[in-house]
Amino acid sequence: MKDTFKHKGMRQQLVEILKKKGIKDQNVLAAINKIPRHLFMDSGFIDHAYQDKAFPIAADQTISQPYTVAFQSELMQVKRGDKVLEIGTGSGYQTAVLLELGAKVYSIERQQELFKKTSKFLPKIGYRAKKLIFGDGYKGLEEEAPFKSIIVTAGAPFVPNPLLSQLEIGGRLVIPVGEDIQIMTLFIRKGPKEFEKHELGEFRFVPLLEDKN
Ligand code: SAH
Repeated sequence: MKDTFKHKGMRQQLVEILKKKGIKDQNVLAAINKIPRHLFMDSGFIDHAYQDKAFPIAADQTISQPYTVAFQSELMQVKRGDKVLEIGTGSGYQTAVLLELGAKVYSIERQQELFKKTSKFLPKIGYRAKKLIFGDGYKGLEEEAPFKSIIVTAGAPFVPNPLLSQLEIGGRLVIPVGEDIQIMTLFIRKGPKEFEKHELGEFRFVPLLEDKN
């Protein structure tokens, strides 16, 4: 699979669309401009890879819409060297964005098929997460905590407590909360028991499911 001039041109157009929709973070836009999103999708969908849309991947899951990826990434305010946790590795596209931003990425996926596929694929195209984990993201990753930021890329019916407690002070949790429609929610940890909460609009995700499969 290749990355051609045509793909690069389509990516630039996608970046323009994201700017028009309000994405301002230059590092996030540069990451999206760089990452060959079409390689993260099954071949039948390659023509659609640079539309601002979610698409099916393996195991009935979806690769998130680029706008959603950009919106969540912007909220995380990633700086080079930040230790970050992602819940829902999926295709690995969001993981790649975080790696482009210079983060040390730990990412958890509960679907074994996707976990295996993405674990092989990411290093093949040069993206090396610190750790990809097959497990249940509701629990977070206690042994590597605390994290500078945590992103959840599936719709959470409630906010799992371990994710809040695994944030460092000043750390940020970006999580879509809700059953059918989710409210993008940002928690900033202000102290051991103090969290600031911001609600930032409606999104739609596949559900965050309990336990691994
Ligand atoms: N970030 C992904 C989005 C994939 S969709 C991408 O860019 O492609 C959400 C993913 O979350 C799915 O792969 C799904 O299997 C996974 N998921 C759902 N519940 C989970 C849980 N409890 N722990 C870890 N992953 C979970």
